[in-house]
Amino acid sequence: MTNRLILKQIPVGPFQVMTYLVACPQTREAVIIDPAGEEDNLLALIEKQGVKVKYILNTHGHADHVFGNQKLKDSLKVPVCMHEDDDRFFADEAVREKSLEELGLPPSDPADIRLKDGDVLKAGTLRVEVIHTPGHTPGSVCYLIDGNLFSGDTLFVGAVGRTDLIGGSLDTLLESLEKRLIVLPKETMVWPGHDYGDSPTSTIGREMEENPYITDFILS
Ligand SMILES: [Zn+2]
Ligand SMILES: [Zn+2]
Repeated sequence: MTNRLILKQIPVGPFQVMTYLVACPQTREAVIIDPAGEEDNLLALIEKQGVKVKYILNTHGHADHVFGNQKLKDSLKVPVCMHEDDDRFFADEAVREKSLEELGLPPSDPADIRLKDGDVLKAGTLRVEVIHTPGHTPGSVCYLIDGNLFSGDTLFVGAVGRTDLIGGSLDTLLESLEKRLIVLPKETMVWPGHDYGDSPTSTIGREMEENPYITDFILS
């Protein structure tokens, strides 16, 4: 086995969110990141890969990314994990109403496990590091697994997530990019929450050269 992990990128749902299935090739233990709909297809993929999902991980609480949480949770009997700041933020009634108005669907229900910056989750040989990267939402995180960064709506290929939705802040997002993401090794693979760029994946090094939010706002 030369591959150090099993990694599937699956665009799903009306918002074409990138769902990720990441598994340890030795133990077949896995995590699923942002199950965003088309749950039956995701469950079929899990079955076909012969993997055992241990955690449902959300990069943030927006409706489009948490759409499939409940069905997968019921089928797989595993906990939903989210950063504590989004879990708190999207529990607020006024925030829920505003977010529903903005996205047309309600935001996340309460998580089972509240994550903090620096937490590490394990699935077989996988080490999942939680990097808190607020800005798109207060509790947005990126998950780092063996040199692969699952960047949600914080960092896209050539762009960043919206900061005009409730709880968003461009200044905070730029600070997250500067302090937490561009300090990672340049060869770190970037796996975004949507395929909005010219390719469905990138690297930190490439984004440091080509992403205008980094080249113009941070490095100039
Ligand atoms: Zn979002
Ligand atoms: Zn999104």
